[in-house]
Amino acid sequence: MTQAATVAQDLTALGFVALGVAMGYRWYRDRGRAQGMLAAALICLAAVAALGRIPNPPLVLSIVNLFLFMLSGFFVLLFRHEFVPLGRTALYLAYALLALAILVGIVDVLAFRNASAPVAAILGVLIVAPWSIFVGEPIVRFWAQSNSLPAVQKARMRFLSAGFGLLIAVLFIAVIAGAALQSPTGILLTQLVALLAVPVIYFSFAPPSLLRRIWRLAEENEIRAALQDLLIFSPTRRVMAERAVYWAVRMMGATSGFVTDAEGNVLATAGIDPGRVESLFASPPESVISAPLHLTEGQGKLAVVAGTFSPVFGSEEAAQLAGYANAVAAGLERARVTERMAALEDNKTQFLNLASHELRGPVTVIRGYVSMLEGGLLGDLNDQGRKAAGVMAAKVSEMNELIEQMIEAARLEEGGVTVHAVEIDLRDIVRSAAEMVMPMLDASHKLEMDLPDRRVRVRVDPDRTRTIVGNLLSNAIKYSPEGGTVTCQVRSRAGVARVVVTDEGVGISREGMATLFTRFGRILTPETEHLKGTGLGLFLGRQLARLQGGDITVASVEGKGSTFTLQLPLAVVPPSPDAASSDGGHEVAGSTPRVVTMPAKSPTSD
Ligand code: ADP
Repeated sequence: MTQAATVAQDLTALGFVALGVAMGYRWYRDRGRAQGMLAAALICLAAVAALGRIPNPPLVLSIVNLFLFMLSGFFVLLFRHEFVPLGRTALYLAYALLALAILVGIVDVLAFRNASAPVAAILGVLIVAPWSIFVGEPIVRFWAQSNSLPAVQKARMRFLSAGFGLLIAVLFIAVIAGAALQSPTGILLTQLVALLAVPVIYFSFAPPSLLRRIWRLAEENEIRAALQDLLIFSPTRRVMAERAVYWAVRMMGATSGFVTDAEGNVLATAGIDPGRVESLFASPPESVISAPLHLTEGQGKLAVVAGTFSPVFGSEEAAQLAGYANAVAAGLERARVTERMAALEDNKTQFLNLASHELRGPVTVIRGYVSMLEGGLLGDLNDQGRKAAGVMAAKVSEMNELIEQMIEAARLEEGGVTVHAVEIDLRDIVRSAAEMVMPMLDASHKLEMDLPDRRVRVRVDPDRTRTIVGNLLSNAIKYSPEGGTVTCQVRSRAGVARVVVTDEGVGISREGMATLFTRFGRILTPETEHLKGTGLGLFLGRQLARLQGGDITVASVEGKGSTFTLQLPLAVVPPSPDAASSDGGHEVAGSTPRVVTMPAKSPTSD
């Protein structure tokens, strides 16, 4: 047993020496004042443990040992002082207590070497008590404050407190129990407890990643959800930066933080006055760790500032912050693109508004004059003049249509579209739309109308719905430059009326589908780039259909053709499921759809 106790003593001493060396090395690699204090404390403790193993030490060595022991405690107090500065008086008192304790220690070593047990115990308490105050005050504070810290910092603070707490306990028990603990079992037990303090303290400043992961587990889900929200749903750069810095501070257990852009402008701060950021930015103190934000315009910075009780920012925190900063940079870029797109959209709306309203006046005047020319009201025209007037009239009408589209698109953006819905037969609207596009047909095109015999009653804005169908038909013809058959089918079923326009034209690629219904969205291919268009027709069509409770959908095979379907709610809901199941629905139940072919340039009325 005696041998076991000796081995335990040697092991403990070795453990503390290793701890001192490890902490000294860390400080050598990353020299911060706070870390320096903790390193000094542990190095002193290591020396005490090593010197303590020398049998029958000379007086000088005992005094040196006592001196180092007191200093080890005092450095823990200074470590705490780095985070919450002690008041002047408290600091003076601490120095006085240190001097007094060393004095008592020297007196003890010199005059009371062979004192009786009670006297030795009293002297021992007088020496251990100041050390315990130096160490105990910080650990109580650290423990209490750790509650407000994130998981990892909290656990680290508690490990540090617990480690030193164990040492205080061992020292007091050893001093008070005195001779009672001189038995091999007593020594073995106290040594083992002291030895336990070694890994506990070590883990507080260098926790293995597994431990950190375990500590973080409880918080991880919350942080992950928050990060996801942060990266995906932040509407603007500023909001994103504010949230990012809030979470950085929380994750790191810092007290404040800031985000700057490539020019050093402060994008957001948390727990710190933006005015102070500049000084931190210029000469960051050791309590600041920062990570670069790789932004398109250059390198920004995400930094967190160590708080009162977040003592050790190690390489783990730096790596974590760097990884987080990469995600934040990506999020900021996304927010920037979104903001830019919103600004562009805004510009587009402004442009549409301005251009359309400014053009409308002059075009109306030109239109008036052209029709006067055509009608001979401005004098007789020769053949060439009449031909020119005809072309001008057609072109002005095209321009007019374009302007109307632009005005409608601008109105839609501003929510200013009012739909004048009336109950009407959809077949009439479709027929009139077909009439509208007749001039576009040439010999290579065939337009087939497939309309039911019975009325298909819908409640819609007739003009707007005609425009929608007209656009689908004109697109079907326009995007079939090689010709082919365009069919226009009207059906009603289960409370929904459908106008299905099918062509055998160029079709639409898979990628093209995404731009089809967007404002100004055009899919330009070698076959279609010469075709005139604004990219507004389908955008308006879908928006207007939706405003009326319907929609436009599309199916297409590139190179083979496309089918656009306009759906609109029927005015009367079918009363019985039987009727709804037939292709005709209630209004057209039992009717046989009639196919009417409309050959080029010779409209056949239905
Ligand atoms: P516009 O025809 O004036 O360009 P639209 O909004 O009506 O604008 O159509 C948007 C784009 O969708 C067109 O530029 C064209 O690329 C594509 N598109 C529309 N209809 C068809 C169709 N029937 N076949 C192939 N492509 C089409």
